[in-house]
Amino acid sequence: VFWVEVTCHSLSGSDPNMRLVVAKDVNEQMRLHSEMVRRANYDSLTGLPNRSLLVDRFRQAVERALEAGQRLAVLAIDFDRFKQVNDTFGHQIGDEFLKSSARKLLSVLPECDTLARVGGDEFVVLADCLDSNEECIEVADRLIEALNAPIPIQDLSLQSSISVGIAFYPDHGTDFEEIHRRADFGLYHAKRLGGGCWSSYSQSETSGIQEALEIERSLRQAIETGRFELHYQPICSARKEVRELEALIRFPHPKLGLLLPDRFISVAEESGLIIPMGLWVLREACGQIKKWREQGLRAIPIAVNVSAAQFRGGDLAGDITAIMAEFEVQPELLEIELTESLLMENTEHSWQQLRLLKAAGVRIGVDDFGTGYSSLSYLHRLPLDRLKIDRSFVQEMTAGGTKPIVRAIVELGKALGLSMIAEGVETEEQFREIVGMGCDLLQGFLFSTPKPAEAIAHLLTRDSPVVGPIPNSQSVPIVESLL
Ligand code: C2E
Ligand code: CA
Ligand code: CA
Repeated sequence: VFWVEVTCHSLSGSDPNMRLVVAKDVNEQMRLHSEMVRRANYDSLTGLPNRSLLVDRFRQAVERALEAGQRLAVLAIDFDRFKQVNDTFGHQIGDEFLKSSARKLLSVLPECDTLARVGGDEFVVLADCLDSNEECIEVADRLIEALNAPIPIQDLSLQSSISVGIAFYPDHGTDFEEIHRRADFGLYHAKRLGGGCWSSYSQSETSGIQEALEIERSLRQAIETGRFELHYQPICSARKEVRELEALIRFPHPKLGLLLPDRFISVAEESGLIIPMGLWVLREACGQIKKWREQGLRAIPIAVNVSAAQFRGGDLAGDITAIMAEFEVQPELLEIELTESLLMENTEHSWQQLRLLKAAGVRIGVDDFGTGYSSLSYLHRLPLDRLKIDRSFVQEMTAGGTKPIVRAIVELGKALGLSMIAEGVETEEQFREIVGMGCDLLQGFLFSTPKPAEAIAHLLTRDSPVVGPIPNSQSVPIVESLL
């Protein structure tokens, strides 16, 4: 049996009963057509329905559920340690693992449910014809149970639990997007509980996850429109002269007001939004250097915080050099601040990026020094210029007895030829102690809080003004404290 396309013609001037019938073999076209339909609706790795078929099935299921007065559930599934499987054993094993896991999940589902693959290690179950929410929870338990035993792949035995988030139709929404998003809330919650379990949208409501996801959504919009603010905090010398600035991002949230980084940086890191956001910060800081220069103000270095995630993959060094060129910023005016955790990740890619930046003349500082799990060996193996003593050590000098730690860090930095900044200097007493230890630079509320560019500009007039109460010498011009 094969497909043909048939055309039929009457022949003029001949017997009226005569026809010319042409049958053309279109087997190949039909094969291509069904292949296209398959590709448009099914995931090529697992053969499971993809997102578009899932949405279609959801719509049909809603119609049936309305008629029968039944409920539906969307279960968002994510593997807890799939990345580790991929990173350790490679993508081929990772793919095999996903295929076997998909088969296992499918084997515990009732006929009428749909299992779809909607992303790398993200799956969705559409649980159809439910009479109660409990039925769906049984399904979730069976799915989790199914992946509790190790899966043999080649000569390996791999195990990775799943987390499941559940949302119900019609309780949690009426269209697929909405219900899926709410199932994701549940999924985040399950992950936060440690993974290997399920959680429903309702349980996530009180857990702070909704705020995180809400912030993520508005961050996405802000990135498209560049709606962030960059504030600058002075870094001063022992004579309280402003020598440098640190750029600190703020996010004016439409509902929550001006947010400080601790509310949104981790959300940006987890969602990958830190990459476009980090580039915005770099462009804004370089653009500001250019603006101040055009206004005839003093050009002083700006330090920009860079997250570890910005180093993974991509070409951060290339991006930074391109941005500096675009705004005609000399490399000695830009410094990047890294955390110890990045240095400890110790990936060849990150280190190579650091060497490229260093070669381009950008200065590199280690932020919050002494708080991470660090190995001192990177201090001489990496092209570093500076250590920033974490503000917790500075602030507990008097009460908490961290003075010897601050002194030791200053000595260590000096011995390695690095420059030092003490952060979080709030009192005259801290200021005097730290200057006495030989630390070059200080930053903290004693001089100024971080402020918008306009409020900082007057510190950049040619006569290098002093901020805060002045130390002994009267020869330097005094500018009233910015606080
Ligand atoms: P950080 O790099 O340690 O930045 C210094 C933080 O200490 C700032 O908080 C600053 O306002 C605060 N601070 C400065 N002086 C004092 C003081 O005397 N006392 C006290 N109590 N605090 C002081 P902020 O602006 O909230 O930033 C928090 C963190 O967010 C930063 O810590 C940095 O890790 C991160 N961050 C800020 N901007 C960016 C950015 O553009 N990109 C990335 N990746 N991270 C950023
Ligand atoms: Ca910093
Ligand atoms: Ca810091």
